[in-house]
Amino acid sequence: GAAEVWKEFDKSKVYMVDLESGLHYLLRVELASHPTLEGEELKTFKDFVTVVAKLFPGRPSVVKLLETLLEWLVSLPLERIPYDAILDLVNNKMRISGLFLSDQLQWVGCQGSLPELRGYPCSLWTLFHTLTVHAAQRPDALANTGLEEDPLAVLQTMRRYIGTFFGCQECGRHFEEMAKESLSQVRSLDQAVLWLWSKHNQVNSRLAGTLSEDPRFPKTQWPTPDLCPACHEERDGLHVWNEEHVLSFLKQHYAGASLKYASSP
Ligand code: FAD
Repeated sequence: GAAEVWKEFDKSKVYMVDLESGLHYLLRVELASHPTLEGEELKTFKDFVTVVAKLFPGRPSVVKLLETLLEWLVSLPLERIPYDAILDLVNNKMRISGLFLSDQLQWVGCQGSLPELRGYPCSLWTLFHTLTVHAAQRPDALANTGLEEDPLAVLQTMRRYIGTFFGCQECGRHFEEMAKESLSQVRSLDQAVLWLWSKHNQVNSRLAGTLSEDPRFPKTQWPTPDLCPACHEERDGLHVWNEEHVLSFLKQHYAGASLKYASSP
């Protein structure tokens, strides 16, 4: 295909186009390798759709698509669901008005300097950070879904999604190891936000200097001092995080005015 034109963007922003491209890839490409969903897979997919339908800060047409998908999954008494039926709904075969998810893969904040770098995995991290932050800001959003009152609802759903569907199986194994080790210590929605932040940094440090690293986007401990000076402190000559500031930074980055709905900076 034609070479993509590099789009300038602002690293201190989160771009809705990355999140929507990620959902498109997840629903129309990643899921397509599972021709029927049943048992644990179906439960995992239902929980994933519940969490995004209730917490995704998307445009109305996308939120409506997710809500329609959720209603359909919840109302279906079927124990096995063919992927094609999900795809028909995602493509809005029924032509319900005001319901739409673009089928363009367009990366802005998740652009890579090569097609195999960044993109979807970047958008998936971004999506789950966004969901943990929105869960912490709207603790009643999951009421009557069966996932309410569990500070781990988003992270357990992410863990099972990554383990079951994420195309990178090695990633799934690494993530499962981290979850097994410490997820049970998470007691609140705020701690869930910080847990994902700290595990993502652990992954960043493991991958620094490997082939997964886009030279244009070196793996760093995030947020860097230029993004959040108050997040960084020095104690006895050693770097330490100020977690209170990290938490407020994550909340404004993934849910506040940093969320950009247009793709230009
Ligand atoms: P990403 O790490 O994808 O981050 C995306 C954006 O999130 C960054 O640009 C930054 O804005 C923000 N960010 C960065 N760090 C944090 C943080 N700590 N908290 C909050 N926001 C942050 N690849 C492998 O090769 N091996 C693996 O084992 C592996 N495991 C993975 C596990 C999971 C669950 C996921 C989703 C991905 C995994 N990947 C793995 C892919 C890898 O982590 C990156 O997503 C990929 O290399 C693209 O990197 P990136 O530069 O776009 O930044």
